[in-house]
Amino acid sequence: MASREDSEIASERRKRTHANYRDNLKDILKPLAGGVLKRDRVVWFEDGNIVLQAGGVAFRVYQGFLAMHSEVFAGMFSVPQPKSAEQLDGSPVIHLVDHPDDLRHLLSALFINKSENLYVWARADVDKASPLMTHKRRDAIAAVNIGRLTGIASILPVALYMCCQLETEIIVNGFKRRDGRREQLAPKDIMRCLNARKTLVHDNVVSATRIFAPVTSGGCTSPKTCTVSLVDLLHGQVRYDGALNDYRCLEDWVPFLHFDNPNYLALCDDCQLLVQGRAADERERLWFRLPYTMGVEVDDWME
Ligand SMILES: [Zn+2]
Repeated sequence: MASREDSEIASERRKRTHANYRDNLKDILKPLAGGVLKRDRVVWFEDGNIVLQAGGVAFRVYQGFLAMHSEVFAGMFSVPQPKSAEQLDGSPVIHLVDHPDDLRHLLSALFINKSENLYVWARADVDKASPLMTHKRRDAIAAVNIGRLTGIASILPVALYMCCQLETEIIVNGFKRRDGRREQLAPKDIMRCLNARKTLVHDNVVSATRIFAPVTSGGCTSPKTCTVSLVDLLHGQVRYDGALNDYRCLEDWVPFLHFDNPNYLALCDDCQLLVQGRAADERERLWFRLPYTMGVEVDDWME
């Protein structure tokens, strides 16, 4: 556990980062450069009340919600805007120097792909419909960095978890973006990912032993067959070339089992439901622990 001194230093460091960001507000709040603003296809709420603009792309969101989640944005909004301030569709426009892709990551995570919700995240991960997921997986590094920069801790557990899925070389060295800049994790976040990967594999194995524990459901119609099937299911996973040796412990087991696993299909209906329930419980347990697993503190995780 971090000592009081450590947490004070960390808190001081956070404050300093915010202060630096606020000091740069003059640079951030750039005057309108002219030209046609492109409304973002995804992050544009018709009833939003503030427009953030970066690199010619406009995002309309909710000011109060943003301020509630980020000291940096709260500070930014507290800077009085002149009456003549630029407006777009009736909302004041704030100009940011961030890359529009970075800003889209952040706003998507906050407003659409709300990362504190397992099922919203999981659905987005499966159907790749979320704007976060339409980008390459390595963009998770940018999501971590912008979460750090803006002090929005709630996006860090998922963003770091996504970083854990990257090749080690990319976690350690980052990658070169299209604009030539190198996107790279901070050394402490690299360490968090490498440490967490061990836990994620371990969690995968523990989850499998719980999900396929050879205890049949109360309403089981064929306990002998179901017990054997559960044992075979577990043995099918826990082997050297099994699927447990990876870091995706938050993935849903059920579609995978339904797809082609004869041992799962041999279970009676009640025992299939039992396995589904256990799998859902395990995922929720791991989701609940995600900030701890990834080594970050999030005040309102799952509230
Ligand atoms: Zn059964």
